Order: sequence, then structure tokens, then C-alpha cells
Amino acid sequence: MIRSDLYINGEWVPTAKRHPVYDPSDNSVITEIAVAGDKEVDAALEAAAAAFPTFAKMPARARGEILRKAFEIMIAEADDLARLVSRENGKVFSDAKGEILYAAEFFRWFSEEAVRVNGEFRHAPSGDKRILVTHQPVGVSLLITPWNFPAAMATRKIGPAVAAGCTVIVKPAMETPLTTLAIADILHRAGLPAGVVNVITPTPAGPAVTRLLEDPRVKNLSFTGSTQVGKLLLKQAADRVIRTSMELGGNAPFIVLDDANIDDAVAGAMLAKLRNGGAACTAANRFYVSKKVAKEFVDKLTEAMSKIKMASGLTEGAQLGASVSIKERDKIADLVDSSVKQGGKVTLGGAKPTGDGAFYPPTVMTVAADNDILKEEIFGPVAVVVTVDSDEEAIRLANDTDYGLISYVYSGALDRAIRVSEAMESGMVAINRGVISDPAAPFGGYKESGLGREGGFDGIHEFLEKKYIGVTI
Ligand code: NAP
Repeated sequence: MIRSDLYINGEWVPTAKRHPVYDPSDNSVITEIAVAGDKEVDAALEAAAAAFPTFAKMPARARGEILRKAFEIMIAEADDLARLVSRENGKVFSDAKGEILYAAEFFRWFSEEAVRVNGEFRHAPSGDKRILVTHQPVGVSLLITPWNFPAAMATRKIGPAVAAGCTVIVKPAMETPLTTLAIADILHRAGLPAGVVNVITPTPAGPAVTRLLEDPRVKNLSFTGSTQVGKLLLKQAADRVIRTSMELGGNAPFIVLDDANIDDAVAGAMLAKLRNGGAACTAANRFYVSKKVAKEFVDKLTEAMSKIKMASGLTEGAQLGASVSIKERDKIADLVDSSVKQGGKVTLGGAKPTGDGAFYPPTVMTVAADNDILKEEIFGPVAVVVTVDSDEEAIRLANDTDYGLISYVYSGALDRAIRVSEAMESGMVAINRGVISDPAAPFGGYKESGLGREGGFDGIHEFLEKKYIGVTI
């Protein structure tokens, strides 16, 4: 059963106003979801605020066990969930299944973290008191998620919030709300008390989010999405000095040094570029390849990309699905067309197919280092390669961006790869790997890619306040 109503205070709430959710592989309507108006937005906040005092006091073990149960349900229902993700997002089933397993792991990880929030008991150096440090849940949190990982971006926020004892209002992207509603259903069945997680789908998002951020009961904002919207929300959050976590855009460099194993680098490039059809903040966006190996790399990458089977997400054997919408697909096509006008050379793909679906084919290009496509997050299956003369040039070009989420480095020498990694202005570096996201590791960016970290030991602290108590003994 596909959930399409709002989830408020433990109940499914229909509204008269509905909004279509499309399958981007053929533009058919999957279902129409309830649209939250001011009344429903207020009800969600009321529910979260009312549930908070009790939930904050629930034993951490009990909160953890609810998350653990939700993890188990997600794993048991992974195929159905993956089909839903594939239908509303367009990604192929294998990517969608991978996302569900990754998403479920956030519930498992934070079920374990719930009971491991440490405090401190210390002697003040002056000897006049003891220093006690404890942590308390920050309170009602607003969680806003994007369309590209509708399951994982939701669980990466809900998991630590619930583990910490916070109550939340989740606002998923309007292209992909069904997965979040399905996750709310799982949490409900796992025994989460009413009001702890509420899901609303207002459209347009702006006025409803502003309404929530202006309310003194909202204490925390966790946002994943574009840098443009993130900046807007940071300004709004500043008015009430609301705590924020920001996971924003990326423009990841993928560096191949002259001593790299090129077959390995191509295999890593295929993962870093094509996972999720390239619609990942971690997607390799700019390939900087040493002159000595550039031809071999481009030839082998072109060959590997040419074998990719593009088809609607649920087609047997499909490796590349549709983009989330025609609008997003056309953005990719426009970037490639402008890049070609600036001198970019296409070695594979590079043209929109005809037909109804939001498809864009695997594309490989070589461009000069000043081509404008290198400044944009492509969010599609387009690999753009630039030839470099030295490690220093690769480092300089890789860092020449306002973003700093992740970098990829391929080299046959670990010391050389680590030296380049240390020079990368990014929150994460993958050495000789095409994927490093892991619920047990801190995920987040430098520069305009964000503030704070999700996952790992840091994730729960985005939902906790630190309190120091001084006492004479
Ligand atoms: P987006 O346009 O910024 O939207 C993200 C979310 O913000 C959606 O729920 C959207 O709601 C909402 N939103 C849009 N305008 C808003 C406003 N004025 N006020 C409040 N909320 C607003 O991003 P997207 O296109 O969905 O996602 C792609 C972006 O996310 C890329 O830049 C990608 O790099 C980034 N991303 C980052 C990470 C990370 O961890 N760093 C992970 C995944 C994705 P509506 O759908 O209703 O408009």
C-alpha cells in the first residue's frame, strides 16, 4: 500500500488539496499526495512540541530498540521499498535497493549510538570545583530532504534525532515524498510514539518552512539540498539563532595520478559517476587526469560507459534510469550543449534521446580547464575529463571551487595519495575507491558544501546540546 496522506501525531491525515507524484521514466502519475496547508503545518508542530518532554525522557535503550525494530522492518521490506524509490525517483532498481540498505543502516547505527552518549566528570585545574558535562536533546527539529536519496537522507536525519530524544517534522522533496511517508509508516509499526516523527508536504515549501522557523518551539534545522536554498535557510535561521546542520551541493574532483592502475581508476570512476545516475552530491563531477595516462583513461572510460544499459528503473538489467524530472534532465542537456559550444569534445553520448521519459545517456567529454561545465554540479551521467601536467596542477584545479564535499584520488603510491588527500579542501576524500559513504563515518563538507556532520559519532551530536554543570564538592 502506498501512503499518500500526511503523517501527523501518529495518524494519517488526508487533505482536499492533492499534488501528483510522477514516475519520471514515462511521466505517468503514481499517486496524488495530500498537500499540507497552514493548519496541518501547525498541527505537526503542535504534535512534535507536545511529544518532546516525554520522548526526551524515554530511556535511551527504549529509543534505540525502536530504531532497531525499524531497521529490521526496512530490511525485510527492502525490495518493495526499492521499487517505490525507483518509481518516484527514476533510479534503477539496483541503485534503489542499495539506497534502502544504506538507509536502513542509519537506523541500526543510531540504535547503537543512542546508548553511547558520553558525559564528563573532571576536576577543575584550579581545584575549586568539579566540571560535569552532559548532553540533552536540542528539542523540536525541522528536517528538510532532497529528491536524490529519498530514503537515506530521511533516515540519516531521523535516526540520530530519535536516538538523541528529539521530536521532528520532516519535509521531503515534492518529487519524492512517497518514500519518506513509507518510512514514517515503518517507524509507526516499530512502535514510535505519536508526535515524535511527523511528515508534512506543503507546496510551495518556502512559506511553510518560514512559518516553522519563525516559531520559538522549533530549535533545530537539519537541511540537505542545494547550496542556494541552504544559504536562504541559514539567513532565516539566523533570525532566531536556530541551530543548523547543512548538507549542501558538491562539485567533486576525481584525480588520477600518473602511477594509478587505470583499470581500477575506471572501475572507481564508473561507481563515482554513475551511482544514482550521477544525481549524487558525492558524484565525481570533474576528472583531472595526468597527461601520461589521460588517453588510456578516456578510452577505457568511454568503452565502459558505452556498455551501460539505459532503461526505466524497473526494467530487468537496467543500469541507468531516468533523471527525476524532464526539468532536471534538460538542465543536464543544457550544460553539455554549452560546454560543447565552448570547445568541449564529446567522445560518447551528448544528446537527449527522443521519447517521454527523463532520460540522458552516458556521456564522456574532454574539456579545457576553464570550461564552464566544471563550475556546475552536473547531477547526471556526464563525465568531464581535463588533462593535467602535475600533481600540483591537479590539486590547484581540484580546489578551485566554492564547494568542498568529497574528492577522489587514484594513485599507485599510498604516501602520494595521502599527500594529495591532505591538500584537498573537502570534508571527505576517497583513495582508490569510487564510494566511501558509510553510516559509521562522518559525512559532510568544507566551504559551501555545508556545516556539521551526519553519521559516525558526530551525527547524534547535531541533535544534542552540551551542558556544563560546575559544582563545589
Ligand atoms: P533543493 O532544491 O535545495 O531542495 C531540497 C529541499 O528543500 C526540498 O525538500 C525542497 O522542497 C526544499 N526547498 C526548496 N526551496 C525551499 C525554500 N525556499 N525554503 C525551504 N525549503 C525549500 O535541492 P534538490 O534539487 O532537491 O536536491 C539536490 C541538491 O541536494 C544538490 O545540490 C545536491 O548536491 C544536494 N545534496 C546534498 C547532499 C549532502 O549530503 N551534502 C546529499 C544529497 C543531495 P520542494 O521539493 O518542495 O521544493
